[in-house]
Amino acid sequence: MDTSTFADRQVVRLVTSDPEETIALGRRLGRLLRPGDCLGLQGDLGAGKTTITKGIVAGAGGGDDVRSPTFLLHQVHHGRITLHHLDLYRLPSETDLSSLGLEEFLVEGAAVVEWSDRTDPWWFNAKVELRIGGEAWREVLLTLPRHLLAAARG
Ligand code: ADP
Ligand code: MG
Repeated sequence: MDTSTFADRQVVRLVTSDPEETIALGRRLGRLLRPGDCLGLQGDLGAGKTTITKGIVAGAGGGDDVRSPTFLLHQVHHGRITLHHLDLYRLPSETDLSSLGLEEFLVEGAAVVEWSDRTDPWWFNAKVELRIGGEAWREVLLTLPRHLLAAARG
């Protein structure tokens, strides 16, 4: 484990009570994202990974055309920064993200990756885990580096 990288990350637990709140959280994250950031999204189908990505893309200035890349695999949004949206759901579990070009994406852009638990955790400097609490509420566990922490504070 890379403890020195973990040392400056903090875990924050939030609850969102509807999709709009999750999108608003994503928007705050998107405003703070920097090139090189690689944000992993975890949670069951329907937990809200694509929903929070809508906010993240909007916050990064990338517009509102966010679709579930479960079917597309990879979407690029050009805003304040270039943001790559990936979904590992349909990939074989041993797929090496280098072969998808992730290292190159992160030189000048940032990435948001759904189903990030299907690959090596060392790709990610930030993580958002969504758990379904009820029909419209989600428990959200964020593991964030310092420059993204303000997003969790609302
Ligand atoms: P995933 O990408 O994790 O499979 P989606 O974001 O596609 O999930 O779908 C989440 C679904 O749950 C959407 O239909 C959304 O409207 C709904 N939902 C209900 N409450 C919430 C909430 N608090 N946060 C996010 N999504 C929610
Ligand atoms: Mg999705």
